[in-house]
Amino acid sequence: MAKIIDGKKIAAEVLTGVAKEVKALKDKGITPCLAVIIVGDNPASQVYVRNKKKDCELVGIRSLEYALPTETKQDELIGLVKQLNDDKNVHGILCQSPIPKHLDEKEVINTINPEKDVDAFHPVNVGHIMIGDCRFLPCTPAGVMEMLRHEGISAEGKSCVVIGRSNIVGKPMSILLLADNGTVTICHSRTKNLAEITKKADILVSAAGMRNLVTADMIKEGAVVIDVSMNKNDDGKLCGDVDYAEVEKVAGYITPVPGGVGPMTRAMLMKNTVTAVKNQTK
Ligand code: NAP
Repeated sequence: MAKIIDGKKIAAEVLTGVAKEVKALKDKGITPCLAVIIVGDNPASQVYVRNKKKDCELVGIRSLEYALPTETKQDELIGLVKQLNDDKNVHGILCQSPIPKHLDEKEVINTINPEKDVDAFHPVNVGHIMIGDCRFLPCTPAGVMEMLRHEGISAEGKSCVVIGRSNIVGKPMSILLLADNGTVTICHSRTKNLAEITKKADILVSAAGMRNLVTADMIKEGAVVIDVSMNKNDDGKLCGDVDYAEVEKVAGYITPVPGGVGPMTRAMLMKNTVTAVKNQTK
């Protein structure tokens, strides 16, 4: 049976460390502050924003929430981002995705000052990640790397397979595994013979957003299986891409959903906010 990588527990450890750093900053008269913009009334986004607020409270970060109506115009949203860019008391800015279709998310991301871009989505930060000179690491892939480190697992010399090539998960995940000296293969919806490729993986990260995509016959004995995805099963419960019950019999390590990568993503956002403060005040 695979060892379960407990994301909740590791995230709690990360948050304890962040809270200590926040306290040290406050002792110097600096209160870290994260501004979160949410546009519209997407219920999932509202949950994510509420959770971010809770995490901020837990570690002592001041949080500002800007809840804008669905009808918000592009120039109003951009105006708010610029105002937050100019506010010296705000260290981190993020705009909760998705935003209503009439708005241009790319322009919003490009307007955020890269020094305050705690999601690490701005092209300048993406470029830094590519050349291995990061200010911020994107939260979800950074959370996965933290989990691997916590378990003493290095990607060095290992065959690493990432399912998914999105800008927020798959691509940066591959770059971080590569930076850890893994030999990385990226799979996507046009990949042929997915099972043949995953079967060779020492470390498999699945971020396809497709329930039961990864079955036990696709796993190498003893492999590390990280499930990033958040899907719903027939009962409306959260589940990942991995057929957990069967894969845990074959894998060496496995992350659960929920309680795996999700809490790590949240913790890494808090870490990035502290990094932003340090960079802006040094
Ligand atoms: P996305 O933008 O929809 O990307 C999904 C990727 O998976 C795409 O590259 C797609 O390929 C690939 N894919 C889809 N079906 C596939 C298949 N059958 N075989 C192989 N590849 C397939 O999603 P995302 O934003 O990266 O998120 C992925 C999942 O992670 C979602 O469930 C999301 O909710 C979850 N997520 C979780 C966290 C967390 O904190 N745990 C954070 C972010 C996202 P193409 O490029 O060819 O379309």
